[in-house]
Amino acid sequence: MVARQGSHWNMSTSAPASGPSPAVMGTYGRINVVFDRGEGSWLIAKGGERYLDFGSGIAVNTLGHAHPRLVAALTEQAGKVWHTSNLYRIDGQERLAENLVANTFADKVFFCNSGAEACEGAIKLARRYHFAKGNPERNRVITFEGCFHGRTLATIAAAGNPKHLEGFGPEMPGFDHVATLDVEAARAAVGPETAAIMIEPIQGEGGIRNVPVEVLQGLRALCDEHGILLIIDEVQTGVGRTGKLFAHEWAGITPDVMPIAKGIGGGFPLGAILATEDAAQGMVPGTHGSTFGGNPLAVAVGAEVLDAVLEDGFMDGVQAKSLRLRQELARLQDEHPDMIEDIRGSGLLLGVKLKAPLGDVVNACFDEKLLTVVAGDNVMRLIPPLNVTDEELVDAVNRIGAAFTKLKSA
Ligand SMILES: *Cc1c(COP(=O)(O)O)cnc(C)c1O
Repeated sequence: MVARQGSHWNMSTSAPASGPSPAVMGTYGRINVVFDRGEGSWLIAKGGERYLDFGSGIAVNTLGHAHPRLVAALTEQAGKVWHTSNLYRIDGQERLAENLVANTFADKVFFCNSGAEACEGAIKLARRYHFAKGNPERNRVITFEGCFHGRTLATIAAAGNPKHLEGFGPEMPGFDHVATLDVEAARAAVGPETAAIMIEPIQGEGGIRNVPVEVLQGLRALCDEHGILLIIDEVQTGVGRTGKLFAHEWAGITPDVMPIAKGIGGGFPLGAILATEDAAQGMVPGTHGSTFGGNPLAVAVGAEVLDAVLEDGFMDGVQAKSLRLRQELARLQDEHPDMIEDIRGSGLLLGVKLKAPLGDVVNACFDEKLLTVVAGDNVMRLIPPLNVTDEELVDAVNRIGAAFTKLKSA
């Protein structure tokens, strides 16, 4: 069963002699390779082998590795001040929040450190919203089959994936799981205690499953009808990944609340909850906090990532590269119809639904020095840096082709 393994694939066939240290808790099935350096779309292993990185640390390295702009932003800030806590104003936080507000639906931003924290904070915000409006009984959140929102106690309960819940004690209450990704199923789950509907615009871990724009539009209308908050989890899809700043823009709707993380830090841990002023009305002093959230180093890098993504032509470039990658993958599918079922996703968050076993293909790609990421539903994720070159796109697809050929001749 390969679903839900995230990126944590083991069994590489080109493993160094010694394995991972037993001192590190064994929660991941890691590939036995250590990367020493990165340059753009490439990671260089300790032995000097160069790997083409089409995983981007799971949609994190928006601008690739060691981008000079990000290195400069980080080192400049590192020479000034690293950390102050949120007891004081943080200049970079204010600037990044203002830039996010200027370019999205949001009026307010809360900074945290990861996707799970952003999702958990979004759930807290939704409950607090109804509390502030005098309806504390409205505290349940509707989520969808196949979703993923992180690994905290609340977010594993939100997703309801039995593999993630097993052995972790009582499941946190407050979530209603809908069995299909559609509006009527969500409507049937709405009750007097519903606070929010939470959805990923494309299910990432679940297998790059696109949510049709009509579903997002229908959920927006359903939320408006019932005074429910719409939480769109853009932790994986955000910050230019789909060729728009945020994926919900393709549907022409806006959420009330949006957790983000992964891509915004470009590799530095950074997350945020974006919300409208109305949705954030309950988040008054003392209601939520984080020691590290939006620390000066993190926001210095985040501000630079956002500026780069917002530059003229950047998003057009992502869309053009997406088209190119899809064309190359279509060619590959023509050559190997026995290996590929279909191509899914949007922008540079693409999924190759395989007919062959996912683990075998990911390992064979690794042997061709191409890094990819597993997802549910037997889908191999291709998530290159957004500044990947056309040559690298072609190179990656040729490596997948070589991996297929070797698998078939084995
Ligand atoms: C990765 C992910 C998360 C969790 O992010 P972490 O930083 O790993 O906690 C939440 N939601 C979505 C959609 C994700 O892809």
